[in-house]
Amino acid sequence: MALQLHNTLTKTTEPFVSQQPNIVKLYTCGPTVYNYLHVGNWAAYIYWDTLVRTLMANDYTVNRVMNITDVGHLVSDADDGEDKLEKGAKRDGKTAWEVAKYYGDDFLKGMDRLNLITPTHVTKATEYIDQQLSLVRTLAEKGFTYQIDDGIYFDTAKFPAYADFAGLDLDAQKAGARVTYNDEKRNPSDFALWKFTQAGEKRDMEWETPSDILDANGDVKTKMGFPGWHLECSAMAMDILGDTLDIHTGGIDHIPVHHTNEIAQSESASGVRFSNFWLHNNFVKSNGTKISKSLGNGYTLDDLNEKGYSELDYRMLVLQSHYSSEGNFTFENLSAAQNRLQHWRAIAALRHQTHDTLSNDDGITDDKVVILLATKQAIVNALNDNLNTPLALSVIDEAFGQFDGKAPADVHERGLNQLLETIDETLGLKLIDSTPDISDDQKQLLIERQRAREAKDWAKSDQIRDIFAEQGITLRDNQHGVVWEYDQGR
Ligand code: AMP
Ligand code: ZN
Repeated sequence: MALQLHNTLTKTTEPFVSQQPNIVKLYTCGPTVYNYLHVGNWAAYIYWDTLVRTLMANDYTVNRVMNITDVGHLVSDADDGEDKLEKGAKRDGKTAWEVAKYYGDDFLKGMDRLNLITPTHVTKATEYIDQQLSLVRTLAEKGFTYQIDDGIYFDTAKFPAYADFAGLDLDAQKAGARVTYNDEKRNPSDFALWKFTQAGEKRDMEWETPSDILDANGDVKTKMGFPGWHLECSAMAMDILGDTLDIHTGGIDHIPVHHTNEIAQSESASGVRFSNFWLHNNFVKSNGTKISKSLGNGYTLDDLNEKGYSELDYRMLVLQSHYSSEGNFTFENLSAAQNRLQHWRAIAALRHQTHDTLSNDDGITDDKVVILLATKQAIVNALNDNLNTPLALSVIDEAFGQFDGKAPADVHERGLNQLLETIDETLGLKLIDSTPDISDDQKQLLIERQRAREAKDWAKSDQIRDIFAEQGITLRDNQHGVVWEYDQGR
């Protein structure tokens, strides 16, 4: 099956086509680094990592930009309220620069812990100020901007398709906004491209507004300012990837404001479509409740570790839901995901226990090999069907089910290895890395135990089993002999 994806832009599931053959220009809205990411945030990055892996399985080279928002994301979507970074700085007793560095580094470490592929370009908004200002300049020259007391705004009435992407009702917005919106704005949906530092405001992060983008007739109290969050993504995406992206991803929360604004300003500046595909992940909730630090359920990766769960257990939990449906984070579900991963690792460890039987011959085409190789294709097919991860997981369960209780000698080593490689490449669960072979000493000990069992020396057999248990390995005896597997928590 060829890759197809649900496109928010067209509201249909379409065959994916890139502009250049075999190259995908992909932009992912990254985190605002004013705090640790919680499990909900991480879900988004796990889903988009699956997209990258699926593209790679389809032989695409992925040129991917992910931003780190380290300035300008205000606590409210209405272009007022505090900058999240400046707020985080007050909370932690640090500067906004220190806060951004600390949580930005923690984010990159978390990407590694979850085995998320590092994007080709990870860009900080504060390192792209010139590109952002030049985008404002282009928009100003084309007549899309106006200046008011607190910043330079985009006039959404000048972009007639503004409401289309999210199906917004702009009249209702106008009717509802009278009380709350900054009445210097021409339309409630207008948004700040560049904000001015306010009189009396003390900011750690601010830059001088170039005179040529300031309104000659305007009256600004200070020339210092900072970019709006929406501007950052457009500027970084277009600077690195060009005017038209193949795919742009983000959370469903981004559709009505952030992505709508990215489209308006990018397309007004370039005159061409900003992205051919838009993909949005739904939210992971906790039994239907929002996940957030203030509700006490905003668990971090460290919190999960403290409760005995690994990052990859959580990755499995996220993959169990389709990216476009609401996920459910509970410790019960996490436990089930952990058990599933544990089972898969036990199967992965069988590749070391096949005793080099005839069934590893190259020419062999018995049923077992055929099932293993067909499973590889079925996984890619499931992912090609709009990233259907739950289906991919059940395909794997089914294939692995055939090994339960079987003799390791029945396992086709090469077939299993190839299947494990496909699973690791597409789902990033590190089945191979987490299940290395046991040592020669341990193998020797297994032979000793086998001899003890043949001699009905159960005491010695149990004693050796205990030695393995201390080393984090469980031995299981069945009618075919012994099978070892690693214990949970690796
Ligand atoms: P933020 O740092 O607030 O911009 O959020 C980072 C990313 O996490 C954004 O792409 C959000 O769409 C996403 N996000 C936030 N909460 C959740 C959640 N509960 N489930 C899935 N994605 C989320
Ligand atoms: Zn963005």
